[in-house]
Amino acid sequence: MTQLKNKSKQIQISHYLNPQQTSLTCSKPSTPHLNSKSKKVKPLNSQKPQTQTNTTNREEETKTQKPLSPSTNTNMIAYLEHFVHGNDTEVPLQNDAVAALEGAASFNFGATSLAAKDFGGMKSAHPLALIRPSSATDVARAVRAAARTPNLTVAARGNGHSINGQAMAERGLVLDMRAMADEEDHFTLICLDESPYVDVSGGALWEDVLKRCVSRFGLAPKSWTDYLGLTVGGTLSNAGVSGQAFRYGPQTASVAELEVVTGKGDTVICSETQNSELFFATLGGLGQFGIITRARIALQQAPNMVRWIRVVYSEFEDFTEDAEWLVTRKEGVDGFDYVEGFVVVNGDDPCNGWPTVPVNPNQQFDPVHVPRSAGPVLYCLELALHCHHSDHPSEIDMKVDRLLGRLRFIKGLRFEVDVTYMEFLSRVKRVEEDARVNGIWDAPHPWLNLFVSKSNMAEFDREVFKKILKHGIGGPILVYPLLRSKWDSRHSVVVPDSNIFYIIALLRFIPPPPKGPPTELLVAQNHAIIQLCYTRGFDFKQYLPHYQSQDHWKLHYGDKWSRFVERKANFDPLAILAPGQKIFTRIPQPSICPSHN
Ligand code: FAD
Repeated sequence: MTQLKNKSKQIQISHYLNPQQTSLTCSKPSTPHLNSKSKKVKPLNSQKPQTQTNTTNREEETKTQKPLSPSTNTNMIAYLEHFVHGNDTEVPLQNDAVAALEGAASFNFGATSLAAKDFGGMKSAHPLALIRPSSATDVARAVRAAARTPNLTVAARGNGHSINGQAMAERGLVLDMRAMADEEDHFTLICLDESPYVDVSGGALWEDVLKRCVSRFGLAPKSWTDYLGLTVGGTLSNAGVSGQAFRYGPQTASVAELEVVTGKGDTVICSETQNSELFFATLGGLGQFGIITRARIALQQAPNMVRWIRVVYSEFEDFTEDAEWLVTRKEGVDGFDYVEGFVVVNGDDPCNGWPTVPVNPNQQFDPVHVPRSAGPVLYCLELALHCHHSDHPSEIDMKVDRLLGRLRFIKGLRFEVDVTYMEFLSRVKRVEEDARVNGIWDAPHPWLNLFVSKSNMAEFDREVFKKILKHGIGGPILVYPLLRSKWDSRHSVVVPDSNIFYIIALLRFIPPPPKGPPTELLVAQNHAIIQLCYTRGFDFKQYLPHYQSQDHWKLHYGDKWSRFVERKANFDPLAILAPGQKIFTRIPQPSICPSHN
């Protein structure tokens, strides 16, 4: 595996950044996002029919499309033909699909090239059309239009940050959910039983939710992901995990109500007490049961500042014992507000080793402190304490010292800095900006996310961290404990059985081949790790799962599989939704004449 050792001068993805790099804003990412309002309009009937296009031509052409109005109905067939990828003679456009979609001619369409790829950069698809819905009504109409066809599918696309084509729909309809978030009225603060909540669009980016909540109300959601350029609907369809999850559970645990468009095209408000089965199914449901058009999310007072700390361990046992002590402290007693951890190579590799640890620009990692007995990798606890302007600095220092005083990290390898709350939560934004400049953001991302039971972690460390990954992965290797009690078993997501389990995330940021190792080699390495978990009989689950066959999905869901299938039959009986997850296949139907609603 020497090829995997990457010592190039690529971007240093020091685990989510050093503060000198974090002059952050919460502006929208520079992800190419087609907004038809700002595109030049080209008359539809001037477009020549395409038989075969190359991607560049197609992208150029689609940039000039305009929103369709009912008056463009007669151009609809020609217009949709324009979206058909590949060879038209090989795969003729389905007349039924066109007929059904004619009833929805006022849809705002975008360029399908957006939906042909995702962040993983390893899969591609050819959707029939990309629809930019402006409301739940549009979403419902698109789903109903698909239901009227023999075999069209519909994928909601959040920000396309999946790795394995989960938000894609081969020859189906893709809904660009971010288009919905452009509507101002999808952001409303409400108070229920004296507790604050915010109603946000399913297509809103978490970074926008943060910015608006903090700047307008001084409030913030409780649970986050590390990176906030993800949509509300996208992370709630999985779980949404970060260093706050030990206390508040994943993001799905902070949701009080959802508005969902089911696979039947019904728009349903659901919560724990109203249409609860749909509510529980949708949270962590991989988009299988409905499309989230609105979510009501619990808020809390936002802190002003964060004390951001990293401490280093040479012994895995010390690292895990301390991490578990921190995450199991009773609520209300002193504790950190954020607990994560990561593995670093025990060496001076700028991408994977010591230089990735310090958070304070004035501090250096001095390897003299590393014990001679240390192995090929070290472990770093990453902690954060929320602070308010009213807190006296000496009180914060005392609290931090009290907590750190109980831990067994290597003395001399403690790094800390004070940053604003916004800077802390936006720390991965800078990674994105740098990685874009270095061309690594758009490179393939063969990532792997696992949940592994506490009881298997020592063996995982021995076999995976210390052997397979001992040279690093060219990006963060996250590892930190989560508490099963914070995960609602009524939700669709499945986790290991043990009370404490770890999230392990291999977040590779490497140059594309030939500069970096072949992507297939890294995918094979991921498979080898998964295989090791199976053969050793580990209690584990994939997070953001990806499987090739339904048998694997059955294995993944275990005794929850029958519930999953039942929910599918109830809420998406034709298996129209989220085909990119490859769990169910669309159930073919005789075509139904379009009705214009
Ligand atoms: P997409 O990739 O667009 O969609 C994902 C799935 O959800 C698809 O099946 C899609 O059809 C479905 N979907 C999308 N929108 C909706 C909707 N409104 N209603 C119903 N279904 C919908 N995850 C974490 O938990 N914690 C992290 O810290 C974290 N960090 C990340 C950092 C980076 C740089 C990246 C690329 C990913 C990270 N992720 C993290 C993973 C991320 O949560 C998932 O990839 C998520 O699916 C991406 O959200 P998205 O909005 O781009 O969704």
